[in-house]
Amino acid sequence: MAPKTGDGYTWTRDAGVIPGGLECDAVIAPRRSVPATARLYDVIVIGAGYSGLIAARDLTSQGLSVLLVEARDRIGGRTYTIKKDGFLYEMGGTWVTHHMGYLFREMVRYGMDRDLITTGSPDMDKGFYTINVPGAQPRKLSHEEAGNMTTRAWDAFVNVDGQFGRTLCPLPHAQLDNIVVDRTVVEKWDQVSCQERFDQIQHQLTAEEKGLLVSLLLHISGGNMENSSLWDMIRSHALLMHSSDNFTDVWLRYKLRDGQTALAKHMFDEAVQAGLDYAFSTPIDSITQPPSTDGRVIVRTVNAEPFQAKKVITTIPLNVLKDIKFQPPLSEGKQEAISIGHVNQMNKIHADVGNPELERWNGMRFPGKLMYGYADGVLPNGDVHLVAFGADERTSFVPERDPENAVEEFNALHPMNVKRMIFHNWSSDPYSQGGPAWWRPGYMSKYQDELQKRHGNVFFASADWAHGWRAAIDGALEQGSMSAHTASKEVVKAKRREASSKL
Ligand SMILES: Cc1cc2nc3c(=O)[nH]c(=O)nc-3n(C[C@H](O)[C@H](O)[C@H](O)COP(=O)(O)OP(=O)(O)OC[C@H]3O[C@@H](n4cnc5c(N)ncnc54)[C@H](O)[C@@H]3O)c2cc1C
Repeated sequence: MAPKTGDGYTWTRDAGVIPGGLECDAVIAPRRSVPATARLYDVIVIGAGYSGLIAARDLTSQGLSVLLVEARDRIGGRTYTIKKDGFLYEMGGTWVTHHMGYLFREMVRYGMDRDLITTGSPDMDKGFYTINVPGAQPRKLSHEEAGNMTTRAWDAFVNVDGQFGRTLCPLPHAQLDNIVVDRTVVEKWDQVSCQERFDQIQHQLTAEEKGLLVSLLLHISGGNMENSSLWDMIRSHALLMHSSDNFTDVWLRYKLRDGQTALAKHMFDEAVQAGLDYAFSTPIDSITQPPSTDGRVIVRTVNAEPFQAKKVITTIPLNVLKDIKFQPPLSEGKQEAISIGHVNQMNKIHADVGNPELERWNGMRFPGKLMYGYADGVLPNGDVHLVAFGADERTSFVPERDPENAVEEFNALHPMNVKRMIFHNWSSDPYSQGGPAWWRPGYMSKYQDELQKRHGNVFFASADWAHGWRAAIDGALEQGSMSAHTASKEVVKAKRREASSKL
């Protein structure tokens, strides 16, 4: 029987909202592979998202003993694929590109770099776009016209130095402390919010361009204009090689044909073959480094089950870390960073609709709880698949509690017959408490170094504070592999020291 996850929701008019029960190859059964007698692991990895999977895979492939502990019933964290009626639904992280070096390397390793599909339809230009913003009549237009307006507005927004950020963020994987730009210059720009920057340039834009820009910024940040940092947009533009020509190709075009879960599964399977122990549906409650244990770390589950290791790599997301008890306590800076957290509380909802005319449609509406809708394929039964995005609407929009509101929002984007919705609420999920991390103004300058710092023998790896593709799969892989590299070097060195002292 196909594995089913407890995560996610489905809605149909007849059945209403059903939590979980969706087919998902990311589910690991049996959920546990841990020897009966307790052992001292070389490394415990907490969290089986991409940060944790690459760490576990790299460490086991070097012959180290590793335990992977995960709160959910599945691998993938904020990236997983649901299978339903012959169609793949990406519930979180979706788009891939060769511009993401850590990710592309994994795609090549598992022979998935050419197994791509594109979002939308190959002849999208035969379709149409709809726009509905304040100060302009709602209307239909071509994708090309919408693209041109978006580019004009986005370019005006990110072009803070007249060179599209090249002088400020020439090296997006080294935003602070690089060889070209003085840190104090970056720190100054980092204080600016999206709203402040928008106020500087909005006079250059038409009503439609303003609507397109603000909704795009909120679609990306998942927050609001005041709490979303301009810097993260400058960084994102730098990662597009400082050119909006690359916007769609890098961010929104290519998907893995077999789904994100297929890639995550390759990594997990390789680690298991190399001897990985694991425990799923096992949330962690505390991480302790008692002074009496010679540097050992004790990781306790919510059921008080202890696991011990020489090193721990936690990949617990930024907004969840406040729920974990650390002993000795974390540094004041880390605690402060964790208590502030990130601002991304985005919505992503899939809808299958009985409207063939929407196969080549994209549309936007601002303001709206769902601001952007994209056509993304056709199901075997002929229904068109759409995916829609909104920003932080937690106070008035909880799709699993009020699915009719979500159906209304789809219809406000464009009239349609929504037959089914499939989604994950990343905000109400206790193990994410938000989407991909988007930072507040000033947050990077103050907390990036602090978040990346180790705490004794505990390493912190997450896409949420990555150097380059922060808030993306690539950032998760960057952080997981970096932490695994340092942890393994130290474990191997200690083993050698121990072996030579016995001679
Ligand atoms: C809606 C959405 C769309 C996105 N789109 C894209 C995209 O198109 N392209 C892209 O590159 N990126 C995208 N991202 C971002 C990307 O998915 C994430 O940045 C990345 O998956 C994060 O990986 P991670 O390993 O750092 O964290 P996670 O995937 O969150 O992994 C952390 C793991 O820790 C576990 N955990 C949490 N608490 C505990 C605990 N107490 N005990 C044990 N385990 C715990 C969690 O269950 C989780 O499995 C998107 C994200 C979302 C949510």
